[in-house]
Amino acid sequence: MIALLANPAHTGHRAEGHPERPERVTAILDAIAVCGLGLTPEPAPAVSDAVLHRVHDARYVAMLDRAAASGGGYLDADTYITPDSMVAARTAAGAVVEGVDRVLDGRAQHAVAVVRPPGHHAEHARAMGFCLLNNVAIGVAAARGKNIRRVAVLDFDVHHGNGTQHSFENDAEVFYASTHRYPFYPGTGSAGERGAHDNVVNVPLPMGSGDRAVLGAWEKKIGPALAAFRPAFLLVSAGFDAHRDDPLGGLAVTTDGYRALAGLIKSWADAHSHGRTVWALEGGYELEALADSVIACLGVLET
Ligand SMILES: [Zn+2]
Repeated sequence: MIALLANPAHTGHRAEGHPERPERVTAILDAIAVCGLGLTPEPAPAVSDAVLHRVHDARYVAMLDRAAASGGGYLDADTYITPDSMVAARTAAGAVVEGVDRVLDGRAQHAVAVVRPPGHHAEHARAMGFCLLNNVAIGVAAARGKNIRRVAVLDFDVHHGNGTQHSFENDAEVFYASTHRYPFYPGTGSAGERGAHDNVVNVPLPMGSGDRAVLGAWEKKIGPALAAFRPAFLLVSAGFDAHRDDPLGGLAVTTDGYRALAGLIKSWADAHSHGRTVWALEGGYELEALADSVIACLGVLET
């Protein structure tokens, strides 16, 4: 059973002409409504400060709240905040935490948080790359707060998840793996970044790599390292901006490629972590490719 979690407040987070826009989530949920999987999105509560502050500096969160309250604007060249963004960001993170809770207590086998703003670029005390709060890192913190040791984050967004890696690269009980276009934004994610405990696996890939290279990286490089780590729980940073139709990504992955990747992730969850996964939406900026790819992944999880 799949729990589909959403944050309706995301619509208050928007900026004229910006590719990270409400229509991304609307397109996915509209497609899910008619795809026949029988999934209905459920709104999630805001993340608690206690869990939020395990990942982000309380002074940073207060700064974001002040920026929102004073009308918002751009925090860096790419990353905007509006008066309503913190409700959106707190409920986006809250959806991932809710997914972790439901999967851990057996109410769902898989949880998929179709939320925005995305999270994997957000650092301990810095917004960047369209991200305010690191949703997937907050999900890891929630799982570990429930006595789950050995958590893995699998990140297939076209960009490297610098914020997530930095959150856990010194933590022997969290594994982080990423395929991403390289060199590319945000500049991190070289193969030499392996974490303090060999708990990070980065597979940088050149522009236009396509399904074979991406799937090969997951099967041959990340899969064996993940098996050696023996995760009790899997979270997924599900970015669909590696799609060949995406205007930002340029990694040439197809919808079938995403379906195959979801199959690999599901097989690893079955092998290592009682078949349990929690997915957090990251990037993906071509609406049809985004919606089709999410549904392809949901179809795999449903089987
Ligand atoms: Zn991305």
